[in-house]
Amino acid sequence: MRPIRPGDRGPAVTEIRGVLTGLDLLPSAPTGDDDEFDAATERAVRAFQQSRGLSVDGRVGAETWCALDAARWRLGARTLYHAVPEPLIGEDVRSLQERLLEMGYDVGRADAIYGVRTSRAVAQFQREMGLKPDGSCGPYTMGALRRLGRKVVGGRPQWLRESDAIRQAGPALVGRTVVIDPGHGGTDPGVVVPDGPLRWTESDLVHDLASRLEGRFAASGVRVQLTRGPAPGSCLPDVERAQLANSLGADVFISLHTDGHANPEAEGVATYHYGTDNGVTSATGERLAGLVQREIVARTGLRDCRTHAKTWDLLRLTRMPAVRVEVGYLTSPADRGLLVDPRFRDRIVEAIVAAVQRMYFPVERDVPTGSIDVSELRAAVAAGRVATA
Ligand SMILES: [Zn+2]
Repeated sequence: MRPIRPGDRGPAVTEIRGVLTGLDLLPSAPTGDDDEFDAATERAVRAFQQSRGLSVDGRVGAETWCALDAARWRLGARTLYHAVPEPLIGEDVRSLQERLLEMGYDVGRADAIYGVRTSRAVAQFQREMGLKPDGSCGPYTMGALRRLGRKVVGGRPQWLRESDAIRQAGPALVGRTVVIDPGHGGTDPGVVVPDGPLRWTESDLVHDLASRLEGRFAASGVRVQLTRGPAPGSCLPDVERAQLANSLGADVFISLHTDGHANPEAEGVATYHYGTDNGVTSATGERLAGLVQREIVARTGLRDCRTHAKTWDLLRLTRMPAVRVEVGYLTSPADRGLLVDPRFRDRIVEAIVAAVQRMYFPVERDVPTGSIDVSELRAAVAAGRVATA
């Protein structure tokens, strides 16, 4: 097939322009004749080729034609399924993948190809929505996606149910499983700051924090698992840390880090939960992040660098409320001076235990920040009572 090029006229050009208009690459009111391959059309073709990783020549050859053809599919216009050996390709597949990614499902990259990974993510979505998990996207699955709408604050339906599960489980901490993830380790020390003859490393400090947390939680009747020891042979990738927490069926996941910055004046604590820029968020993750952040700020006086939504693997792939806390900047002399004091680290630990306890209070029974005495929790457990307050 001879490429369709600038200056050409005819029904094929009209079709090309139609697809480009649908993609918002051409204005919907035509600049010239509808069937003319004019300068605006050429610019639009180039932009399209650029966006699809095709060679950018401004002409529509076989490859660009196929890509344009795939681009005309709108989500919902056909049933999508994992076809073998020729997979379905199209803009509708990409929209679906982006939607699933936003909600925290693992489709890999939004590559517009309905492969086995997309099919598996769809099946998981279907299972969580109570639909038959056949991995294909037909009218029922589309209906479920539409009902969730754009408003999905709360992200995956599973997360919405998580809040319910937490409410129904009551306020007891006893018997929960908390996975604590000291960041870095092995060949990756994280932030390193020389200090005279000493050397402070993030991986050591956060492991110390994790061990202290382990002790406190255990004393409150909570099962605790750390993702690594003090000196692992290698650094566990975030994906594996998330998988570990999933395989343990953890109720809560807390990743511990300290921050670092070239500017020694950068300081403070920040907490991260799963979420995207356009407001999709794990409701329970966001609540836990808020509680952790507020308790730490109230109990330590570290500068409040607030909570933030991120799509990091660690937060996206964990199937329980998960947060990552950056407890101060190791590169800030002020923060570092506090962090190297074990009594200060104990205050951070108490703050995190209090935050997790508050997670399990119903919202109407929540207590003011900084008001939970963690030692009372321990006393209650020691007395054989369930820790309720
Ligand atoms: Zn770190």
